Amino acid sequence: MSDPKQVRPNPFEIAQRQLDDAAAIMKLDPAIHEFLRWPLRELHVTLPVKMDDGTTKIFHGFRIQYNDARGPTKGGIRFHIAETVDTVRALAAWMTWKCAVMDIPLGGAKGGIICNPKAMSPAELEKLSRAYIRQVGRMLGLEKDVPAPDVYTTPQIMAWMMDEYSMMQGYNEFGMITGKPLALGGSQGRGDATARGGVYCLREAQNVLGINLKGGTQAIQGYGNAGTYAHKLGGEILGLKTVAVSDSKGGIYNPDGLDYEKVMEHKKKTGSVVGFPGAKPVSNKEILELDVTVLVPAALDGEITAENAPRIKAKLIAELANGPTTPEADAILHKNGCYIIPDFLCNAGGVTVSYFEMVQNAYDYYWDEERVQRRLDKKMTIAFHSVHETARQYKINNRMGAYIVAVSRVAEAVRLRGWA
Ligand code: NAD
Repeated sequence: MSDPKQVRPNPFEIAQRQLDDAAAIMKLDPAIHEFLRWPLRELHVTLPVKMDDGTTKIFHGFRIQYNDARGPTKGGIRFHIAETVDTVRALAAWMTWKCAVMDIPLGGAKGGIICNPKAMSPAELEKLSRAYIRQVGRMLGLEKDVPAPDVYTTPQIMAWMMDEYSMMQGYNEFGMITGKPLALGGSQGRGDATARGGVYCLREAQNVLGINLKGGTQAIQGYGNAGTYAHKLGGEILGLKTVAVSDSKGGIYNPDGLDYEKVMEHKKKTGSVVGFPGAKPVSNKEILELDVTVLVPAALDGEITAENAPRIKAKLIAELANGPTTPEADAILHKNGCYIIPDFLCNAGGVTVSYFEMVQNAYDYYWDEERVQRRLDKKMTIAFHSVHETARQYKINNRMGAYIVAVSRVAEAVRLRGWA
């Protein structure tokens, strides 16, 4: 995909425009609207890290708490070379809407560090993770703000962060972060939760649209946590045939289908899906335009734009990535009859199981995987139908439907607290 010279749309401007559009449709009180356009608070941090070669490298990071009217804020931490404060602001806003659309009692936040984790050793990543918590820890905590994994951050990184925070407090506080390994208070079912939630949405979409996805095809851009499990569960739960997948190095396409286990084995061995035997190469741009039933953007934001939207042939788009579609592209796809399950609904399975993890940590009582999946299914199904129904009622697209459900809930909390 990404031509590095191409200017990517500013994600925070997109998030604000989406809110503005929803506010106009729902006739939101102007003061509440203006209040919800901005993050409540931001911390920018500078992190010195002693690298393996003896030099000290300076990293920059952020933690942004967007809105906590409905409860403590929640949101992942990303390690990415192209991280920007506006990306983190947008993602923090989307977390606010995501928790609200799922009706879980949390607000939205996001964190990020500008770094290239692929070029760092485990020891350097551990030092960077701990340095981040030493700075940002003052605004974290079970009652304040609870981070989680996101792009290029892992359960191991969550464990280091939890340990650093617990050392600062003088006691264990497992619930200060989610997405932890099971041995340290992680939840069953967190690993595949994001993709699982998206697949449950696709299942409900086929029901309301009166179509059958069994035997349909899917293409997945991004082959990390979200993308790989979308491949696995799309097949297992819906009978979808995955014909194309891609990662940052490129993509592969085989109209006869790609075997999940074999692609995973190849990626583990070589570090990429590229070069998978029997498949044709496909670029990260081309993968979006394949003639498939379901397109799953599961990489980065700003991938589907006014430029490529007219060429997208998928009937359904399940947005596991955050912010993959620009507002201009949204309008084109909606007009062309493409059914989009918008990001902050489609990928909300992750934060929902993270919330379950917080609950389990608070009670020190752990659920089995079946209970986690059953509760996730119920939450996703209810949220999907509230969005679908709202969109139908207002005769708008699903993204605006999701905004109206979410913003109404946050606005009500803001009003009841007497903030505006
Ligand atoms: P990850 O770090 O596990 O994987 C990211 C994947 O994207 C990797 O396969 C990487 O190779 C690929 N990628 C990176 N740059 C790319 C590029 N330029 N073109 C194509 N592929 C590229 O991350 P993840 O957790 O799977 O997150 C993926 C997306 O899903 C992100 O937008 C993230 O915000 C969103 N998301 C993830 C979760 C979660 O629980 N993991 C929850 C909600 C949303």
